[in-house]
Amino acid sequence: MGLYEISGQRQMDFMKKFDYIREAGTEGEKKAAETILQELKSFGVEGRLESFEIDTCRIQEASFSVTEPYKKEYVIAGYGRSGSTPSGGVEAPFCYVENGDDISLSYGKGKIVLVNQPVTCDLYNRLVEAGVSGFLTITGNPTDQGIDRIPLERSLRKMKETPIQGGILHYTDAVEMVEMGASRARLRIKQEYGKGISHNVIARIPGSDPAGEILTLTAHYDSVPAGKGAYDNMAGAAIIMELCRYFSKHRPRRTMEFVWFGAEEKGLVGSRNYVTVHEEELKNHAFNMNVDLAGQLVGGTVVGVTGDVSVCHMIEYMAHEAGIGMVTKNSIWGSDSNSFAWKGVPAMTLNRDGFGMHTRYDTIEYISPWSLQRSAQLLGYIGDRLGNIPVMPFKKEIPENFRMELEEYFKRIS
Ligand SMILES: [Zn+2]
Repeated sequence: MGLYEISGQRQMDFMKKFDYIREAGTEGEKKAAETILQELKSFGVEGRLESFEIDTCRIQEASFSVTEPYKKEYVIAGYGRSGSTPSGGVEAPFCYVENGDDISLSYGKGKIVLVNQPVTCDLYNRLVEAGVSGFLTITGNPTDQGIDRIPLERSLRKMKETPIQGGILHYTDAVEMVEMGASRARLRIKQEYGKGISHNVIARIPGSDPAGEILTLTAHYDSVPAGKGAYDNMAGAAIIMELCRYFSKHRPRRTMEFVWFGAEEKGLVGSRNYVTVHEEELKNHAFNMNVDLAGQLVGGTVVGVTGDVSVCHMIEYMAHEAGIGMVTKNSIWGSDSNSFAWKGVPAMTLNRDGFGMHTRYDTIEYISPWSLQRSAQLLGYIGDRLGNIPVMPFKKEIPENFRMELEEYFKRIS
């Protein structure tokens, strides 16, 4: 493969066109999808949009105040998808339950509880079981200043029932409340659920062997509402764009489908839609190569492989050939590769560590052309070998333990 044809600077220039928030279902995401289509056109590839409906949630009000033994209103953000309190709010005793262990939670019945970590669906259900009246979770750290003292919204995954509501409070305020002995509080959350439209952008490079299998190269281009998602994951979107450009000029034996997924941040909604709509064709899919989190200079590369361990060995061998550092991890992965593996297609996600994910600091100023170039070279090398190898070097199988974990995973997020 002509690794020298891969340009980090060109990926960087592409990324600069997406210096805005691209939350699924919003104008930002739509505009980004159109820009991806234009970019494809600029090197002669005709892409298309595949649109689908998503559930949206808008928080209209989130307020919290301590009412006893002192009175003070604190700035909080609302916990999306936790529903709305009665219009007057919920007033109840207040209690700090740390990580939500059983002992701490045994004091939480009928109270608004303060809990450390982000509330996952599992923890949410435990809070409900413990009979709490509402919850606040802690964000940030004591060194935050200025705008960083303002908590950002988080969201639960979609759940059938949400009897209790929650908010997010800054670390410094949490410390103050506990030290001042807050014993009673009022929480008010109002949110509205609706529907929106999100889009996958798809471009196909037909392989020279018409009977051949299909390989997918994928990356999500939507962002969370909190930030511009340069590292997570416009960098991944740029990497596969660079590879689409390369493979459109060096047509491989196998067909390559490039997909920029929408609504990944809403629970892999774009990729789940893709594997459902194209379920019939998945019998021809041999492998999914996904990128999620990339482009920062300081970091190491991990390829998460959801498939037989032999796929890890194969990728490590190819990385040795390319001479680009990385390690593999054989497990399921919280990104769009999971959707493929769930439907029986071995999959990987290329992931580079970095900082700022899901924050307002996830911006292009921390992205490095050097890093983009290397990751695109590595993924391109793997794609080129698998695109042209006469016989795929591994079985199309998902190990039993991963299949079970994936069933659990998708049950949790749907
Ligand atoms: Zn991501």
